Amino acid sequence: MSLIVKKYGGTSVASLDHIRRVACSVASARDNGEQVIIVVSAMGGETDRLLQLSAEITPIPSEREQDALLSTGEQACAALMAITLESIGQRAKSFTGIQLPLVTDNKHTKARILELPTDLLRKTFETGFIPVIAGFQGVSEDGSITTLGRGGSDTTAVALAAALKADCCEIYTDVDGVYTADPNVCPRARHINIISYPEMLELAGLGAKVMHVRAVELAQKYQVPLVVKSSFNGERQTWIINEEDVMENYIIKGVTLEKNVSKISLIRIPDRPGIAYKILSPLADAAINVDMIIQNVSIDGYTDLTFTIPTTDLNKATDLINQVAREIDALEVQAANNIVKISAVGIGIKTNPGVAAQMFKALAAENINIEMISTSEYRISCVIEEKYGELAVRAVHHSFGLDHNKETSDQE
Ligand code: ADP
Ligand code: ASP
Ligand code: MG
Repeated sequence: MSLIVKKYGGTSVASLDHIRRVACSVASARDNGEQVIIVVSAMGGETDRLLQLSAEITPIPSEREQDALLSTGEQACAALMAITLESIGQRAKSFTGIQLPLVTDNKHTKARILELPTDLLRKTFETGFIPVIAGFQGVSEDGSITTLGRGGSDTTAVALAAALKADCCEIYTDVDGVYTADPNVCPRARHINIISYPEMLELAGLGAKVMHVRAVELAQKYQVPLVVKSSFNGERQTWIINEEDVMENYIIKGVTLEKNVSKISLIRIPDRPGIAYKILSPLADAAINVDMIIQNVSIDGYTDLTFTIPTTDLNKATDLINQVAREIDALEVQAANNIVKISAVGIGIKTNPGVAAQMFKALAAENINIEMISTSEYRISCVIEEKYGELAVRAVHHSFGLDHNKETSDQE
């Protein structure tokens, strides 16, 4: 009997009707002899609603309490799913992160999984119950509820599949797989049938929220067969597999748009050894991920430093940087969240020197100003003004010849 972990995202469980549809398809998988474990997200929009409630109280809520609040979305959905399964004649039990327990570190809002015992789950399905797991959440060693970061239910599902040595982890969402760009932004994006773990890691890490980046990392590490499918239509899907099993015949695999980006600038800081460390180490201590960094040419022993961070950490980071700015006597701190990061991703970048120029040309043709640039073997990223983000995706996607024509909408 094959063991499958099936994860349903927010749009797939957005209403009781959606939950019923999922429950019926789970029941028929069971009837076909599959052993099934379900992971659910909160009902669509619920996580944002809860975040909005806490933001109405304070812009910087305690992260411990924020996690306690957000985890309720998944908990409610898991219980509703179990109730629905029972109502159609299946036996089911829901579990929260604490009940499993899915043990994480104590980095609230972006915790990482440390341990995931499987005894309770095995007992549950061996006694004929379908386990329904509340995704996205865990418990730290000191007993506090933690969450795994936005989109983290994917990671719960892959971690469970790895721990249980499941035959496959199926991610059900509102698109029928991974595309060369977000199909909701770029209507001419191509469907991708097969993609390698490293490329999916880059796409996910740079804004393709169809998969949580940590889920792809775990799938690669534990060799979990991973497939992205639509819970609304079953014709196509995307398999995420090992690099050596994918035939590579393109330079750019996809284009991404990262909206969760903000920048902080420190104006007129002393240009001397140790200053960058002094500025950035409090952010590292607070587990805030600094991405691009630019330092201006020094004039009269002073310089300016600008860096990007996730917008979700902007309030916390601004607080920390204001303290450092006073200590090092900076003239001013400026924070802005009206920016986005657009990236072209592909293994062909390292061997094709013209790729960056081609991307800059596409942006220039649309009169889009580039504020920051970074490159690596697999990607070129540009920070631009937020209002041009979607236009930029379409322009860059088109310029790399990724647009589908009507005959072939699948990437070969
Ligand atoms: P879920 O709630 O099911 O986890 P998400 O909203 O997290 O769903 O992810 C699905 C969404 O990811 C799609 O609706 C799509 O807009 C977006 N997306 C971004 N980039 C891509 C891409 N390259 N391919 C497919 N979908 C993408
Ligand atoms: N509900 C959480 C979110 O909206 C986690 C998830 O859906 O994976 O980010
Ligand atoms: Mg998601």
